[in-house]
Amino acid sequence: MHIDARHLPNNSIIEGDLCIIGAGAAGISMALDWNNSRYKVILLEGGGFDYDDSIQDLYSGKTSGQKYYPLRASRLHYFGGTTGHWAGMCAPFDPIDFKERPWVPHSGWPITLADLEPYYAKANEVLEVGPYNYSYRYWNEQVPNLKPFPLDDTVIWNKIWQFSTARYNTLYRDTIINSKNIHLYTYAQATNILTNDGLSEVSDIIVKNHEGKTHTVRAKQVILACGAIQNARLLLASNSQAPKGIGNQNDLVGRFFMEHLEVAIGELWLFEPFISDLYSWDYGKTRASAELAITEDLQEQEKILNGTVSLTPLKVAQYMKPRMETWQNEDPRKSMDNVFANWGEADEKGRNASGFIEKAHQLNIRIEQAPNPNSRITLDGKNDALGVPEAHLHWALTRLDKHSVRTIIHILGQEFGKSGLGRVKMKAFLRDPDDDLFPEETNGGWHHMGTTRMADDPHKGVVDSNCKVHGISNLFIAGSGCYPTSAAPNPTLTLTALSLRLSDHLKKKV
Ligand SMILES: Cc1cc2nc3c(=O)[nH]c(=O)nc-3n(C[C@H](O)[C@H](O)[C@H](O)COP(=O)(O)OP(=O)(O)OC[C@H]3O[C@@H](n4cnc5c(N)ncnc54)[C@H](O)[C@@H]3O)c2cc1C
Repeated sequence: MHIDARHLPNNSIIEGDLCIIGAGAAGISMALDWNNSRYKVILLEGGGFDYDDSIQDLYSGKTSGQKYYPLRASRLHYFGGTTGHWAGMCAPFDPIDFKERPWVPHSGWPITLADLEPYYAKANEVLEVGPYNYSYRYWNEQVPNLKPFPLDDTVIWNKIWQFSTARYNTLYRDTIINSKNIHLYTYAQATNILTNDGLSEVSDIIVKNHEGKTHTVRAKQVILACGAIQNARLLLASNSQAPKGIGNQNDLVGRFFMEHLEVAIGELWLFEPFISDLYSWDYGKTRASAELAITEDLQEQEKILNGTVSLTPLKVAQYMKPRMETWQNEDPRKSMDNVFANWGEADEKGRNASGFIEKAHQLNIRIEQAPNPNSRITLDGKNDALGVPEAHLHWALTRLDKHSVRTIIHILGQEFGKSGLGRVKMKAFLRDPDDDLFPEETNGGWHHMGTTRMADDPHKGVVDSNCKVHGISNLFIAGSGCYPTSAAPNPTLTLTALSLRLSDHLKKKV
């Protein structure tokens, strides 16, 4: 069922069993899990079904620290959320990603990979990825010519990605609209969360829109699913009763913001051409492709973060501009166009170039960011059109980030040399071991994580292992904001799995 909140009488009261705030990857995945049940699910979406400049404006904000994309352009604010232009790369986290690693401060999840396994399988279905099988051996049997580099597998292994084409705006729109028990309210932007006097239970969610209407939503269980930056912002801005914001009694909301560092780290020059689709840079060419990953034992030995390395033919890569440069337009659609225009041009020039395209490759890393309390979301002094303070992202990297990237290119250099396959050349910005800075062109993956991190101890995290906000009995967070550490893979498969796990937990509560 769909209701446009602009057409409701002002000051309407909306009541239900479950209220999910935000209809993106996390929110819609959860809502679908309750479809056809006897529970009334209220799904609040700030935007409509299409891009709208005045709604996208509500995502404006400030950035400082390591250069970042404009906040307005780094997410999409309408039904379907940022799946409206995500790239669909999916891979589960590794066992080590959940463990406490003494060399990674603030690491360790209160759950393990085994706790998420059943939900990963389900998330694969919701995202319409292939089978829940990410082993290289399986894919090697399915698809011809997925030949790996003959490298020492006690050092380097092939981590598999699959690709989703799911755009929730079109894929799940009709199912949600036709549902009898899911009540989707569009143009229903949550602007404030109110609690009882003891601050222990959410009582009301205040919803506004540009037509000047204000409504109140009441539900037994409330799930915040607006993305990691927006969730933290809304908790901090809901400060009329708790001056530091909801769930922020230990000053943790907004802290530990993490991104994936995605940057070119060097070149691989092979002695002989290596023809294989396993490391295909040609998006969509195969149903699965691999990136070079460092084994868990070696990560521990070298005291480094988890990261993987992909290959792009150098003939193409040399014409590709950093996304941190091409994605600076405040309009996300124009930024997307800029990136695609550059990729198209690079592809054309690269394919037309003479020489052995498969002999020289650019090496690109995607690596987790070490959790850092100073990398954080706070509120800016400026309010948006609905009166909510804008977000300020301060993106701050640490010595461990640079050390890990440098060590990984060293490992690759040694292994390609040892195997007799070729030589690796390191980028200049990695040469000085005392230089901890990253160049301006260092990309993020538009992967926002860690602002409401998970820990059993309320002094160490905002939510518990069931994604419930500490100290508040009926407030939950769905999404990558709950990650204590971010692993190397893109976040959406895991955040979907975590949201489905939360959904199962709530079924025992309502
Ligand atoms: C260009 C690009 C490429 C990407 N590629 C990949 C990839 O290949 N693989 C991958 O895993 N991830 C990728 N991502 C990231 C991926 O899109 C996000 O991880 C994912 O969409 C996050 O899901 P979410 O539900 O937490 O947030 P979103 O999908 O952003 O959804 C949040 C929803 O909440 C709504 N909302 C916000 N505030 C309010 C409010 N106050 N009240 C009501 N509703 C509100 C929004 O309108 C939106 O619908 C990419 C992102 C971008 C920008």
